[in-house]
Amino acid sequence: MRAIWPVALGATVLAAASLPRAAQAPVQTAAQTLPSAQARMVGAIKILNIRNSVYLLQGAGGNITVLAFPEGVTIIDSGASAMADQVLAAIRTISTQPIRYIINTSVDPDHAGGNEKLAGVGRQITGGNFTAPDQAEVIAHEQVLNRMLAPSVQPPTPSLAVPATTYYTPTLKLSTLYHGDAVQLVHVRAAHTDGDTMVWLRHNDIIATGDIFQTTNYPVIDLERGGGINGVIEGLNQVIDIAFPEFRLENGTLIVPGHGRLCDIADVVYYRDMVTIIRDRVDDMVKKGASLDQVKAAKLTRDYDPYYTQNAATYSPEMFIESVYKSLAPKPAPARPAAPARGAAPAPRR
Ligand SMILES: [Zn+2]
Repeated sequence: MRAIWPVALGATVLAAASLPRAAQAPVQTAAQTLPSAQARMVGAIKILNIRNSVYLLQGAGGNITVLAFPEGVTIIDSGASAMADQVLAAIRTISTQPIRYIINTSVDPDHAGGNEKLAGVGRQITGGNFTAPDQAEVIAHEQVLNRMLAPSVQPPTPSLAVPATTYYTPTLKLSTLYHGDAVQLVHVRAAHTDGDTMVWLRHNDIIATGDIFQTTNYPVIDLERGGGINGVIEGLNQVIDIAFPEFRLENGTLIVPGHGRLCDIADVVYYRDMVTIIRDRVDDMVKKGASLDQVKAAKLTRDYDPYYTQNAATYSPEMFIESVYKSLAPKPAPARPAAPARGAAPAPRR
């Protein structure tokens, strides 16, 4: 783990102190605005000012990104439902404006669990003669909506928690007018699930990745809900494609992982390499015909386990390896229907 923000900040402060006074005119570009090293606590929620009026909230399940603008607040993910009151109290220390929009990076309860409560205290922005609906609007990929409304979800998901705006295209652009930033939603296909979104705040130069990237753990691959190892690597490459490094410094595009600390492009490159190396190790054994038990016994993650087992009780290296194996192993051929008995009537044509 690197702890470099204070170092980078210190270097900048030193450089500024040695300049003549006239040269110290504030020239603030997004790239030059360093995150404050000072986090503060509101109850159990840790608040870090990432850049400008964008904040990272930690301690409510998945990471929450708060985008405050003069007319309201847009949040990326809503945390676990049990933490919603504390999340709201933390947001109130950043802005007294209503929550306008909630963007979900996935359907997971630690990312979308606070939707109902936080949408319920919010209010949408509308124009003209329309009366603004008395709730914040939830925005997510179409598969998040489908999974929330599946008949198997019992009790049914409350309507306040369900996305009112969805997309099924590779990206969705949201207006600066309604969010205080050019917000671009990017669909990450078949990665953590099949409904993952990474959120790119283009003016603030920040990306919230959702659960394809976590500094505390291996990426969680939910095979039941359409996830897969190659989608995770593709998603990490998408982040690397759009992020910019800062010349010889930490900083540049700032990246909020699904869980864990604030990062930059170098952290994502390291993580992408780690995930790719483990994928290739498993793939090598799969191609040689190894069984799942043999792959598990080979301990293919052991050199990385000291870094990525901070939530091993809920997501162990063995669970990660199993999901990688099942992503790569050839699927058994579906059973063929039995041939009709001799003399039997031909099947009716459709
Ligand atoms: Zn998560």
